[in-house]
Parts: sequence; structure tokens; C-alpha cells
Amino acid sequence: MTKIIKTISEWKQLKKSNAFKEKKIGFVPTMGALHSGHISLIETCINENDISVVSIFVNPTQFNDLKDLERYPRTFENDLHLLEKFKVDFLFYPGAKEIYPDNFKYRVVEDELSKILCGAFRPGHFEGVLTVVLKLLNIIQPDRAYFGEKDYQQYKLIDGMCKAFFLDIEIIPCPTIHEEDGLAMSSRNVLLTKEERKLAANFPRLLASEKSAEEIKSELEKLGFKVDYIAGLEGRRFGAVHIGKVRLIDNVEL
Ligand code: AMP
Repeated sequence: MTKIIKTISEWKQLKKSNAFKEKKIGFVPTMGALHSGHISLIETCINENDISVVSIFVNPTQFNDLKDLERYPRTFENDLHLLEKFKVDFLFYPGAKEIYPDNFKYRVVEDELSKILCGAFRPGHFEGVLTVVLKLLNIIQPDRAYFGEKDYQQYKLIDGMCKAFFLDIEIIPCPTIHEEDGLAMSSRNVLLTKEERKLAANFPRLLASEKSAEEIKSELEKLGFKVDYIAGLEGRRFGAVHIGKVRLIDNVEL
């Protein structure tokens, strides 16, 4: 059985118990609407640790667009079913008041990497991400925490934050899991219409092609995508596009 923990005090109390003595804790933070991408992180976490913790918290402060927050899929019953199936020990499932007693007056700001790629198109997004992840890491106090390479910029920022603030937590990147047609799995994929979903497969295909960033951008636009950016950085190519109301991101090693 996966035990659901809703408050910080409950978790702190539990952590003091004998069952946690000398045990390695692995942690996978998520926003729910779980899919096989999340599950791959969860399986790695279970394999590498004695105790596994998954959090589900749709973090309001990282949504720069209120409509995006409202539309974000929420599938709690199904998520819990999956966590039980994979034998996750604990689900941390807090409300916004538990996480933001300060009303987001205190924030983590990064000045370089968070300002480019997705950061340039989603003002404040990474402030929200870094702030919530620091809070979650401080609450759970895991030995290891797992993040997907699908959100590579996010992983790099979190890794950098942990080093900058001397957190004694191993940040472990996990490879991106794709659908059969190459589209990176994402909770937002269910928001695509049937036609949009078909069209979406062109994004990973072109991103991984030999073409230049400019060529990829123009081909995607011809197909009907709105392109935020296609850009190379540190041996990877990053992209972010919109299809209708849905924003998709991905990156590939070059
Ligand atoms: P989210 O619920 O979208 O905030 O994602 C929670 C974690 O799962 C993050 O570390 C993501 O990078 C990771 N993740 C989401 N989708 C995938 C995927 N397709 N492959 C691997 N990891 C993923």
C-alpha cells in the first residue's frame, strides 16, 4: 500500500521512526497525470533506494499562464492506482497552503540558464520550479532525487541549485521516454486533438534531423506549428513549439 502524506508535520513525525533508520530515501517530484515517463523515474528510484517517495503537486507558481494551470490534467485516482501497482512507499500530496505559507514572498532566482530557452518565453517559470523543488527537497530530505531529461534545462537548473546551496542530495537525470511515433511522453499530450496528436510526431522527427535550426523552425511553421525556439546548446538541440493550445518541449543529444 502506498501511504498518502498530506502535511509536512506528518512526514517529519514518520521520518523519526525506527523504520527510517539508516535507510536511503529516493524521491520523484511530479505534477501528477502520471505516464510511462514518470514511471521510468519511479522504477529507477525504487531500484536504487530503500524507501521511495513520489510527490504530486500541481505547482501554481510555475504556470505563467493561468489558463494552462486550469487546463493541466488531473487524474488522481489513476495516479494512485499506478503508485500502488509499482509499490511506491509514500505519496506526498500537499495542498498549496502547506507549500506556500509565505505566499511565494521568498523565491529562488537563477540569473543565467533560467533566462534563456524556455525561460525567455515563460517569465517566472523557473523561479516557480526552483522554489517549489527546494521546498520539496527540504521537506522530504531524500538521499537521491530523480528528474527527467525531457526537461533538460529544468534538470540542469535543479542540479545547479543543489550545488549552489550545498544540499547533500544526489540529483539523478533519467532518459526521456517517447511514444511509439517518437513524441516525448508528457502529461499535456492528452490535451491534443486526434489531428494535433498526429501532427505532433513531426516535432521530434525534425528536432533529431541533420537540418539546421533555422530549417527545422521553418519546416515546423509550414506544418502549422508555432515555434518558440529551436536552439543548440552544449551538444544538445532544444525545441519548444505550440500546437493549438498545447505547448510541447523536447531535446536531443547531437
Ligand atoms: P512533471 O509531472 O511533468 O512535472 O514531471 C515530473 C518529472 O518527470 C520531471 O522530472 C520530468 O522531467 C519527468 N518526465 C516527464 N515526462 C518525461 C518523459 N517523457 N521521460 C522522462 N521523464 C519525464
